[in-house]
Amino acid sequence: MLFKELVEVFERLKKTSSRLEKTAILADFIKDVPADDLPIIVNFCTGKIFPTWDERKIGIASQSMVKIISSVSYNSEPKVIESYKHTGHLGITAEEMFQKKAQQTFFAPEDITVRELYDTFVSLSEMSGTGSATKKQKTLMGILRRADPKEAHYIVSLTIEYVLSGAKEGVMEEAIAKAFNVDASLVRRASMLTSDLGESARIAKTEGKEGLESISIKPMRPVRPMLAQNVASIEEAMEAMGGIADFETKYDGARLQIHKQGDKVKLYSRRLEDLTEALPEIVTYVNRSVKADSAILDSECIAIDASSGRPIPFQNILTRLRRIYKVEETQKKYPLYLRPFDVLYVNGKSMIDEPFKKRRIALENIIEPLNSECSVALAMITSDPEKARILFNEAVQGGNEGLMAKDLEATYTPGMRGKKMVKIKSALDTLDLAIVSAEWGHGRKAGWLTSFEVAAFDEESEQYVVFGKVASGFSDEQLEDITERLKPLKIGEHERIIDVSPEIIVEVKFEEIQKSPVYSSGYALRFPRLVRIRDDLNPEEVNSFSRVMNIYNIQQRYERRDKGTP
Ligand code: ATP
Repeated sequence: MLFKELVEVFERLKKTSSRLEKTAILADFIKDVPADDLPIIVNFCTGKIFPTWDERKIGIASQSMVKIISSVSYNSEPKVIESYKHTGHLGITAEEMFQKKAQQTFFAPEDITVRELYDTFVSLSEMSGTGSATKKQKTLMGILRRADPKEAHYIVSLTIEYVLSGAKEGVMEEAIAKAFNVDASLVRRASMLTSDLGESARIAKTEGKEGLESISIKPMRPVRPMLAQNVASIEEAMEAMGGIADFETKYDGARLQIHKQGDKVKLYSRRLEDLTEALPEIVTYVNRSVKADSAILDSECIAIDASSGRPIPFQNILTRLRRIYKVEETQKKYPLYLRPFDVLYVNGKSMIDEPFKKRRIALENIIEPLNSECSVALAMITSDPEKARILFNEAVQGGNEGLMAKDLEATYTPGMRGKKMVKIKSALDTLDLAIVSAEWGHGRKAGWLTSFEVAAFDEESEQYVVFGKVASGFSDEQLEDITERLKPLKIGEHERIIDVSPEIIVEVKFEEIQKSPVYSSGYALRFPRLVRIRDDLNPEEVNSFSRVMNIYNIQQRYERRDKGTP
């Protein structure tokens, strides 16, 4: 297939904001794509090169991209930078620069095929070590020399994995369902189980409904984690679970998905990054404590202060997860412990369709506790709200976030946020919002961005809506770090403010959510404050507008309760 055909699809997607139309365009496009090319095409359509589970990265920085565009389009680097400042997107800049090519080629270049572009990306991802930056530039320039302006736009966009008109995963799932006449929920299930939408599409095409149904999980292939909804009280949790539930300590750590096959162990973060090398002691605990030949476990990884016995704030664990190169040093400073809370697979058998109560027993059967280092999450099955309340108070006094409540009959639903598992927190709640703009500081902090506009994603309008500015709660180290990370994300600038692409998620604490005409959401957070930078979340995992409204409604219920109204 020619890349031109895909470019045409991107252009058509750009022209419509209707989800139905987008689905129709994509379904029509993919239905005749040969099965072998389908995974590549589906990933490209969603703006990705490799499936979610695949860790390969292209690794071309914005500065290098400016050089590449300049060299291939014969425009000076300052001219490319000028355009980039104006467009805020390197793909659009590439298109603009290719249109203004200072020199023309006199022969018609050979058309670029999708397969060839994919192979180029694969070879880029394999280049590492000294001289690899130059080698990467040359390789990408090779294919860009044959591109017309629109092709250049999308090749650059794919390279930086930021395709403006790329399809959202949900839209793509519906398009696959439509194209191959299967249920969208089956496609979604397959994609959540395999973390591979492209492969799910190939199976939908070649094996249909039966093929999708027979997809199962397997060790060493990460699965999207099941997520929880907020509830305002133990009673509300109890009601959602039908009068009886498993209540567990909600540990304040980082989620870890553990895969074991024989003596091989792999650890994956909530966003399915491979953390095995960063957490060697967890690998040791798993080998010593998990009594199964093969298993997939869901767990929380926590750090406990050896002297006080209390949990250390999550931010410190994140330091461990991010500073892979200082493993030994940080290992001593922040020793980590493991609290497995669910089992998805054991000894060759998937457990995800089993009810929670059975999974919990299976979990307890395979975990041999290692003192405080590894033990199953503290749990209690009860129908008595008072007993749950005592557990809640104990959890909070012990420095934990609150409780989780789990439906005893519920299956494990990867990637879904439902009422089969809910969380009850001590503080009302926090929000995970994306930074969409930032303002330069003054005085001592003049070189840093110090105030950040934060936004949720409104699924209806498909736009980010702002809820306020966060300027407190940041340490100097965090300000320096976030400034460096926001600079390359700049998409516009006005006075002291830069607009950035919404890639960085921050968890924000606040007093309450109020109606307000000041921000585009129509609401504002009162006294917003940073809790942590959520490097464990994907940019798409930003809270939705409806999730914020869910918290707003819970808050209203709290207020009514405090005023004595039921
Ligand atoms: P939050 O920001 O509130 O931690 P989240 O968006 O990361 O939420 P949720 O699914 O909403 O994820 O909340 C559940 C999280 O709580 C899990 O991701 C997990 O990391 C953590 N957790 C801690 N203890 C438990 C437990 N016993 N059972 C399930 N999850 C637990």
